[in-house]
Amino acid sequence: MDGKRSRHHRVVILGGGTAGLTVAARLLRAKVDDVAVVEPSEEHYYQPLWTLVGGGLASAGSSVRRTASVMPRGVSWIRDSAVGVDPDERAVLLASGNELSYDQLVVAPGIQLDWDKVQGLPESLGNGRVSSNYRFDLAPRTWDALRRLRSGTALFTMPPGAIKCAGAPQKIAYIASDFWERNGVLRRIRVVLVLPGAAVFGVPEFAKPLEKVIERYGIEVRYQSEVTAIDGEKGVATLRSLSDPSAPAEELEFDFAHVVPPQSAPDWVKASPLSDAANPAGYVEVDRETMAHMRWSNIFSLGDAGSTPNSKTGAAVRKQAPVVVANLLAQMRGEPPAKFYNGYASCPLVTAHNRCIMAEFDYVPKPTPTFPVLNMQRERYDMYLVKRYGLPLMYWNFMLRGLA
Ligand SMILES: Cc1cc2nc3c(=O)[nH]c(=O)nc-3n(C[C@H](O)[C@H](O)[C@H](O)COP(=O)(O)OP(=O)(O)OC[C@H]3O[C@@H](n4cnc5c(N)ncnc54)[C@H](O)[C@@H]3O)c2cc1C
Repeated sequence: MDGKRSRHHRVVILGGGTAGLTVAARLLRAKVDDVAVVEPSEEHYYQPLWTLVGGGLASAGSSVRRTASVMPRGVSWIRDSAVGVDPDERAVLLASGNELSYDQLVVAPGIQLDWDKVQGLPESLGNGRVSSNYRFDLAPRTWDALRRLRSGTALFTMPPGAIKCAGAPQKIAYIASDFWERNGVLRRIRVVLVLPGAAVFGVPEFAKPLEKVIERYGIEVRYQSEVTAIDGEKGVATLRSLSDPSAPAEELEFDFAHVVPPQSAPDWVKASPLSDAANPAGYVEVDRETMAHMRWSNIFSLGDAGSTPNSKTGAAVRKQAPVVVANLLAQMRGEPPAKFYNGYASCPLVTAHNRCIMAEFDYVPKPTPTFPVLNMQRERYDMYLVKRYGLPLMYWNFMLRGLA
């Protein structure tokens, strides 16, 4: 191979985000000696804090650490990006042109934010009127804009299709409304929340208390709708009905818009044989319980890039990682899968600066509370403390070290 380098590792992990590093740390604890992580970024983010950053409840700096400081010791960190996988040859092609070969592969490059699927959005972002907590650099701008708004229309949008943290598009609407209420300006602000579904949340047990929150703040919800275009300069959004495609598009004027982009698997995953050809979102096609690939049993995927139909969250990764590791180790020993994932995910629905509904549920979806003695179907102060302080602490100190 001219100029190209080819290296072999026993386990190769694509992506050193929440999923990749949690799996790597657990493999090292299990004494697997040759683990490589392909990760291009010098920074590692705890993204769940970005909602609080956008709401002025946490600093952006507390959501980021140097990748070098969180990479488990003993892992070979390959500072490169995967651009293709040949599962029959057990080979990964990297952006540098180098190749890796593996015995077992874990695919965890996260989800792709398709900003350009909303017309006018890329050029509007960060202009003072349009922001999104889905980017580290923009989350603080959300807070700047929320703080400045004293009257007018505030628009919050959620796109159709799977996204990471499906609660995040509405959480920021509640945190903002709470802030405006405490500052005596909420009655002068029309708050519009655009949702693709017919309900505010997919699990009825949590939808009910959320409806009360919406009523309390006087939020106008546009169900079964999506925003297809944003004109950040004029402050106009184009809304389309998802239930009646023949209905004329509506133009809605806004003074501030928090926009969440449509999302899908990274383009290189979509184009690879690993993806689910029947699903245009293109996620890595794995068994929903064993997390092993449907066609190549030595390949696993978890986190946002996997096809499992759970809510895409770091909380889901916390339960998926032990399953991936147990089944990978079982395979090394020539044994059948040892652990099964039940679809657990959690969405801490922050509803005010001191309140949170801790939604935990599985594939069914039925509630699966970690603290069954507490009533989790209401807004709670203790769960806000868990979200704000407990979970970040758990993430940096336990999850990324393979201990939780
Ligand atoms: C605003 C917001 C709020 C959220 N709130 C919550 C919450 O309250 N609770 C919760 O549990 N979850 C929440 N999440 C979701 C959570 O952050 C993700 O579900 C989780 O990070 C998924 O882990 P992952 O490893 O699959 O992806 P990521 O953590 O995104 O990691 C993917 C990694 O892959 C790397 N990568 C990308 N492309 C390549 C490539 N080609 N080759 C190699 N590496 C690559 C990236 O650099 C990145 O480090 C939130 C997310 C956002 C954006």
